[in-house]
Amino acid sequence: MCKQGENCHLPDCFCSTFHHLLDPEEIPQIVYFAFDDGVKEQAEAHYNRLFSEDRKNPNGCPISMTLYVSGDQTEYPVLSELSKRGFEIAVHSMSHEVIKTGEKVRDEAIGQRDNIINFSNVTVNQIHGWRSPYLKTAGDDQIQALQDLNFTYDVSFVYTRKTMDDLNPWPFTLDYGWTLPCDLPPCPAKEHPGFWVVPVNAMRDYGDWAACRSFDSCANKPLTMNQTYNYFMDNFRSHYQGNRAPFGIHMHANWFSKEEHINAMDKAIHDLLEYDDVYIVSINQALEWMKRPTELRFIDRFKPWRCSPLEEGIITFRVVLIFVLVVVAVGIYVKVMSTLFG
Ligand SMILES: [Zn+2]
Repeated sequence: MCKQGENCHLPDCFCSTFHHLLDPEEIPQIVYFAFDDGVKEQAEAHYNRLFSEDRKNPNGCPISMTLYVSGDQTEYPVLSELSKRGFEIAVHSMSHEVIKTGEKVRDEAIGQRDNIINFSNVTVNQIHGWRSPYLKTAGDDQIQALQDLNFTYDVSFVYTRKTMDDLNPWPFTLDYGWTLPCDLPPCPAKEHPGFWVVPVNAMRDYGDWAACRSFDSCANKPLTMNQTYNYFMDNFRSHYQGNRAPFGIHMHANWFSKEEHINAMDKAIHDLLEYDDVYIVSINQALEWMKRPTELRFIDRFKPWRCSPLEEGIITFRVVLIFVLVVVAVGIYVKVMSTLFG
């Protein structure tokens, strides 16, 4: 059994849990967006609107997201542009066929990673994550194949809570296997030290009647802009006011072809950025925080969430300025004291 701090130590091992080591009020609420399938020009316009460069996290850096890219229909110049913007690029198979064996995972992951590297400006060191088509996996064989190929995380395994009031699990490492209920067998039962899984925590629909495995797959579909906005925000608040586990939106960009959908999402992102403790980051950035949990009061200095060297420069300048002011103040104090008493 996994016991944090006893047989499992950060940054390499994190036990599956519903309660993080830090108190919820010290935890930045992570929100991540994970878009699947071929990356096309039509989708770029939606991404540019929702994740425009002037939309910034409380640390002053642009918000981010992750694309799980499959080989079918991907326009690689578009992918290059999105990668340049700082979005994370991950792998979602070459053929988008159902995965049944480790061998299939290996072929699809290598093939699509090569496509991305060869036809866009993304380098192999920037690719960390995998998601299976249809969330169908090869269980332990899948993780073994991904680990052999130097992937560091998988976001294919589903967790379904029963009501909006229930908590969602945190991402964890498979040092002691997949310890949650298995929604879509097979799930990994063996130990895969240091390999992260980000549970696909199913959404609750806008009436809290049923689960939606991905954001855009509810049986009870939100129809109006208000229903869609409430669907998003109710799920968000259940994390924010709950255990602060990362709030993940797993979906496909073609859902935005409906005006009320994109408008609702646009408003939701706008409203999230009003919070000073909510961060919209890529999944890889979320996992960097998992490895080195950093309290909100220190979050400005958390490097994996920082952006430009200019901002790094401003922080360094502030630290140096404070140091100089302290030295000058001490100098004046010593001088005054020695004049009075010396
Ligand atoms: Zn897909």
